[in-house]
Amino acid sequence: MGLLEGQRGIVFGIANDRSIACHIANAFAKEGATCAFPHLPGEKSERRVRKALDGAEIVDPFLIPCDVSNDDELDATFVAIREKFDSIDFLVHSVAFADRTYLKPGVFADTPRDVFAQALDISAYSLVSMARRAKEMMPRGGSIMGMTYYGSDKAVPGYNVMGVAKAALEACTRYLALELGEKGIRVNTISAGPIKTLSSMAVGGIDEIFKWVEQKAPLHRNIEGGEVGKTAVYLASDLSSGVTGENIFVDSGYNIVGL
Ligand code: NAD
Repeated sequence: MGLLEGQRGIVFGIANDRSIACHIANAFAKEGATCAFPHLPGEKSERRVRKALDGAEIVDPFLIPCDVSNDDELDATFVAIREKFDSIDFLVHSVAFADRTYLKPGVFADTPRDVFAQALDISAYSLVSMARRAKEMMPRGGSIMGMTYYGSDKAVPGYNVMGVAKAALEACTRYLALELGEKGIRVNTISAGPIKTLSSMAVGGIDEIFKWVEQKAPLHRNIEGGEVGKTAVYLASDLSSGVTGENIFVDSGYNIVGL
């Protein structure tokens, strides 16, 4: 029997088969969970998500278009999921966006107000707006998790406004954990090392970061998406029943090195 047998939940953030959310979906399916997959609206987006889930051998996936910066779309998404699932056990937030013009070394001080606000809205506030809706569907408690990166705490060249958004995401996680704990809802983040995806390729200097991890991380290699998937299974399952408000690094140990 799988670790998530009979569990139902929501995985936000599949764009294609490289997406961290797709690795998580795959790992969850192997452990017996059933998921709904809200995705960026648009035919092309839906086609890509369907293809990614085909590859992950997820049969007849439940797809819903949803721009997370739009409250009406979020409301409609949660209504549709409630009709299908009644209640849920987990929610995965694997969504982020910032205008790539400002994801280059040397341009952080130039970040315009609207670019900053959009990055924080899509990449951090959306966790709060999802949690508000998800808690009403978690009568037995549940697990909510977001994806973050080391650039929340350290100034990583080129990560810029996304680092600020990740710091906000991690702070939101702690406040949500504090507030939702009495309902038995746990809220955590996974801090993944760099993985080649659509989002990470928008960060200027990412290839240097991959090389640097190989040289400096204790495991001397970059991580694979499946390793984030396995940690997400741990966080969704009863194995992590006492863990909330935490940030778990899956980064070949890179964050502990003090060179
Ligand atoms: P990805 O591009 O595959 O996923 C990002 C997702 O965000 C996409 O599915 C995209 O459609 C979605 N998205 C963006 N704006 C949206 C909006 N307005 N409404 C709905 N969806 C929207 O890239 P990924 O690397 O899998 O990123 C997933 C998460 O992991 C992000 O939070 C990212 O910051 C985080 N992360 C990635 C890495 C990495 O190196 N790839 C490392 C650490 C953390």
